[in-house]
Amino acid sequence: MTRRIFSGAQPTGNVHLGNYLGALRNWVALQHEYESLFCIVNLHAITVAQDPSSLLEKTRDLARIYLAVGIDPQVSTVFIQSDVSEHAELTWVLNCVARMSELERMTQYKDKARKQQESISIGLFDYPVLMAADILLYQTDLVPVGEDQRQHLELTRDSAIRFNRDYGETFKVPDAFIPKVGARIMSLSVPSRKMSKSDDDPNGCVLLMDDADAVQKKFKRAVTDSGTEIRFDASRPAINNLLEIYHLITRRTTQEVEDHFAGKGYAQLKGELAELTVEFLRPIQQRVREIDDDHLDQILDQGREKAQRIAKPTLDEVFRRTGIRGSKSRG
Ligand code: ATP
Ligand code: MG
Repeated sequence: MTRRIFSGAQPTGNVHLGNYLGALRNWVALQHEYESLFCIVNLHAITVAQDPSSLLEKTRDLARIYLAVGIDPQVSTVFIQSDVSEHAELTWVLNCVARMSELERMTQYKDKARKQQESISIGLFDYPVLMAADILLYQTDLVPVGEDQRQHLELTRDSAIRFNRDYGETFKVPDAFIPKVGARIMSLSVPSRKMSKSDDDPNGCVLLMDDADAVQKKFKRAVTDSGTEIRFDASRPAINNLLEIYHLITRRTTQEVEDHFAGKGYAQLKGELAELTVEFLRPIQQRVREIDDDHLDQILDQGREKAQRIAKPTLDEVFRRTGIRGSKSRG
């Protein structure tokens, strides 16, 4: 049987190089090897405040990005999370399986809660359970994500194992697929922080839709470390980050990259990186502009149907096993 992957991104802002290099690029590569589902997780997005007047458009924009970077809707299922109500329904059941103490340990919650102060929603706390539901509904084998999601994947696995133990074998226990390089692209302005869509500092993130001017400015302003040598070195996070981006975009080996920059200065690295990134983004941006609205609707409708066909039997089985709905169910 073909193995299955599931992953998603939130329509919380504009997609950046970190999202692409840590996640989306791997989706594109894996989609021909696995049966693939790629979701736009809009229910996750509202765990922090969103502008209701732009969320729908951001949701569609994210779908356009999926297609423009190379997700092939003939091969993969692309859909919007809220279109498949099974996600929210399974979340409720898993809320009764996951433990408060587990969720309290989640570092993404702690980081995001710090920014929210008194307006932290229960949804933000529950984010990992909704993510577990996303994944488990599809009997997923592999979840390609960035490093920041490793802890959530562990929680997903633990929830599946606990449910299977208490109610009988129901869920496949998924594995994380986290790339060796690119899984944690750092902010260009604060290299101790990951690049994030919801970062307040616009200079930290290079966006997939940035124009040439913005890309050049952001790389030019990128902070650097003390010293002058250009080589991969985790103890010098700013330069290491720029080199990782260079290595991933050019697909040259780390040795080739170091050889190329031997004896050169930071300005050269930043200049080349900016130029390369502009060229790399150009065709993606072109494809985003070419995606027709009706065609997008068709893809999302088809995606919803395909996703539901897999999600519904899983939820039925969960309801049956938990005694919520019997085989003589009215519905
Ligand atoms: P937000 O700040 O709203 O959480 P985000 O930038 O973290 O946005 P998500 O939509 O939460 O983006 O994540 C989408 C995918 O991108 C996930 O697989 C996540 O692990 C990955 N990802 C996010 N940031 C990075 C990063 N800096 N480097 C590599 N991968 C990343
Ligand atoms: Mg995130």
